Amino acid sequence: MQTVSTSNIMEQQNIAIMLSIKIKMERIPFRNQDNDYKRIHQLCKRYLREHCEHEIIYDDIDIDLDTSKTIMYCKKCETCFS
Ligand SMILES: [Zn+2]
Repeated sequence: MQTVSTSNIMEQQNIAIMLSIKIKMERIPFRNQDNDYKRIHQLCKRYLREHCEHEIIYDDIDIDLDTSKTIMYCKKCETCFS
């Protein structure tokens, strides 16, 4: 049982590190990113999507005064699902 919880903690650390890399990578404007940079960013996003135990949040965002849209995103890894 202990190995399970240890691997869970490791997984959580991996997620936290990958998320901080993703956030740092997004500081560079898209137009200034070369292909390798974009590829690494994609891999970070894919890692989070596949390894995070998502905690989905539903949120209404206003598009204009009369229209709103429900978005779904993960509270932990900030991946958007809508
Ligand atoms: Zn997540």
